[in-house]
Amino acid sequence: MVSQRACLDFAIAETAAMTGPVFELGLGNGRTYHHLRQRVSGRPIYVFERKVASHPDSTPPDDMLVLGDVRETLPAALERFGPTASLIHADLGGHNLEKNDAFARMISPLVEPLLAPGGLMVSSDRMYFEDMTELPLPEGAVKGRCFVYRR
Ligand code: SAM
Repeated sequence: MVSQRACLDFAIAETAAMTGPVFELGLGNGRTYHHLRQRVSGRPIYVFERKVASHPDSTPPDDMLVLGDVRETLPAALERFGPTASLIHADLGGHNLEKNDAFARMISPLVEPLLAPGGLMVSSDRMYFEDMTELPLPEGAVKGRCFVYRR
């Protein structure tokens, strides 16, 4: 969580002048969503999750929730939002690192076109993007715990 927060705070600051939406992929118990809600201002935060099980204080309102499997909801989001996201945070994995890596490979081409030029992606897993630049980690983040990319 320390690395995740360091990466998120860096990415929020880097994209502060952008107005496009923020996408949180994977709500879990809502800790990082809660953090985003406290730190992001002036940008809507949409949450992508297949099954909501978060703390009530950290649960998005229905109209900001994109319910379903990201393999289906990300392509639908491209039709709905176009390439407008200023920041995408993904924390979709579990304990199996091999599975997480395979999943990251699968969703990378679904995530990349959603970002606006200059938009940032923060991920708990290495991503496999065609045309994004991996950025050095900010102070306080541990290598391998999070990854930051710019479109
Ligand atoms: N960042 C969250 C937090 O701080 O509380 C934790 C996220 S948790 C590790 C991963 C979440 O991703 C779970 O809630 C799980 O249901 C969701 N998830 C995993 N695979 C998914 C998929 N294919 N589509 C939608 N949600 C998925």
